[in-house]
Amino acid sequence: MPNINELKLAKDLIKFPSITPKDAGAINFLSKQLRLLGFNCKILEFKDKKSKPIKNLYARLGKKAPNICYAGHTDVVPPGNIKDWTIDPFKPSVRKNYLIGRGANDMKSSIACFISAVNKFLQKKSKFHGSISFLITGDEEGLAINGTKKVVDYLKRKKEKIDFCIVGEPTNPNKLGEMIKIGRRGSITSRLTIIGTQGHVAYPDRAKNPSDTIVKILKKIKEIKLDSGTKDFQASNLEITKININNHADNVIPGSANAVFNIRFNNKHSSNSLKRKLNIIFKSIAKKDKCKFNVSYQVSGESFLTKPNKTTYMIQNTIKKITKIKPKLSTTGGTSDARFIRKIAPCLEFGLVGKTMHKVDESVSLTDLKKLTKIYFNILESYFE
Ligand SMILES: [Zn+2]
Repeated sequence: MPNINELKLAKDLIKFPSITPKDAGAINFLSKQLRLLGFNCKILEFKDKKSKPIKNLYARLGKKAPNICYAGHTDVVPPGNIKDWTIDPFKPSVRKNYLIGRGANDMKSSIACFISAVNKFLQKKSKFHGSISFLITGDEEGLAINGTKKVVDYLKRKKEKIDFCIVGEPTNPNKLGEMIKIGRRGSITSRLTIIGTQGHVAYPDRAKNPSDTIVKILKKIKEIKLDSGTKDFQASNLEITKININNHADNVIPGSANAVFNIRFNNKHSSNSLKRKLNIIFKSIAKKDKCKFNVSYQVSGESFLTKPNKTTYMIQNTIKKITKIKPKLSTTGGTSDARFIRKIAPCLEFGLVGKTMHKVDESVSLTDLKKLTKIYFNILESYFE
């Protein structure tokens, strides 16, 4: 049995410039590491017409139930301007008790901590009743169409049972131990175009200005009170992100106008109920103004909540024991791959402190690395007790 140190493994992983959707060898490397620990590794490559093939990994140790799974991603966001970094983002370096590098936080280090925890667990207990598995994708930060979503479909087809899943995303806002995520709000983006009639500004009666209509619509949708939040969720919110009227002349009434907005919604809504609500508004205002409209929607995920079960509370207590902080069970933040996994298994998210994720000089404290490994190790011990 090899000795796997989380810091060394985190550094090794950061060295792969796996800028989404590039894999750069990260998945093969991980699979090699897990094979050394006795895991059965299956590399799953998925693609579709619009995208390059993506490598994913499902690895399992043991055949028995219960099967506890760790889910994560090896792809990272682009580093931005390299000159803004104090180091090369893909040559990890330790400065003042912090490991710096792209993915240090989101989320290669977390993967390293779980593998190191498994390694320590197996050294202590070579025989245990159940299975440990890994679901690692290379497509989380980008389109997320050939990643966890398709792995979940594959596992469903294969009737692979996962009894509980820990998603290792950075969930803590400031300190390790503050926050577990048990659900997420949904996200829907709407692209709306209003079609009027182009004309001379001096002859408005011969034209139909779509900008008036789009302004009325946007005002109306901003005024909708979606809800005031629930016990588990913050209130839903709608944000207008773009208003475009592509007009090059000051004396022309434009022919069309468009706007984009996004709604983050809690479980009082679904993407379909929101679409219905919006379409009624678009229709009635466009009709009154004698304009046409077209709209398209993109749903990145429905809202969901995993009802806490005994494993959730065991994990909450384990975190509290090690960090001396009782983590909140929260549903804040953007979407994550938990939105796919929850379809086949109860899950929660717990990882590092997310303060520097996606930023220049992304970093993680070495103390947190040790603590997170210890937390994951204790979770495994309690789970198989
Ligand atoms: Zn992430």
